[in-house]
Amino acid sequence: MRALDEAELLSLWESGQTRHPIDRALLLCAWARPDVAPERFAQLPLGVVNAGLLRMRAALFGAHVEVQLDCEHCGEHLELALDIGELLAGASAQDERADVALQGFRFRVPHSRDLAALAHETDAQAAALRLLERCCVARPDAPATLADVLSEAEEQLEAADPLADLRLSVACEACGQPTQASLDAGDLLWGDVQQHARGLLGQVHSLAQAYGWTEGEVFALSPVRRAAYLDLVRD
Ligand SMILES: [Zn+2]
Repeated sequence: MRALDEAELLSLWESGQTRHPIDRALLLCAWARPDVAPERFAQLPLGVVNAGLLRMRAALFGAHVEVQLDCEHCGEHLELALDIGELLAGASAQDERADVALQGFRFRVPHSRDLAALAHETDAQAAALRLLERCCVARPDAPATLADVLSEAEEQLEAADPLADLRLSVACEACGQPTQASLDAGDLLWGDVQQHARGLLGQVHSLAQAYGWTEGEVFALSPVRRAAYLDLVRD
């Protein structure tokens, strides 16, 4: 992954601001994976996109992740600490995933383009069937329907691309029941980019106001000098 300097981080933030979260994840992924042609991102398996986003998050902002959730059973607020290295352990280094063959059907793993196509579907069951329909690349001659194989196909597609859906089952500290925690790699990384971009804008704002410096002049200062000037401005 290429390093991201402050001016680039700001321009990444600027171009991501107005995008839909799916497009934004692909924009971030394009930074994480300069080896992949931009037009290919929407057709990469979701697990490959997520792995790229998580690696970029670890490289830029560290591997430690905190997930907040409420227990599905008792409502207890839970905080979960995750390590990106552990999430990525065993992740395939390849960008391709094997198709799933089931009762004469053949399915490819889902891509970002599939998620975008389903973004307005509000019924979970209908969305799951439409997704399977999109991913179906071969059908049996027999009159079997997609609904017959839905749950088994979902299970096998998940096994074929485990990072596509970052869900973990955690035991609640209060009631001991298992509850589902989920992590959206695009949202996670975008949240950090946004927070750091706002921090940088705040620094430029303070120093521009005090000394009349431009953004470029502020970014050209060494971190030590910039911190020292910011201290003086605040005093
Ligand atoms: Zn609970």
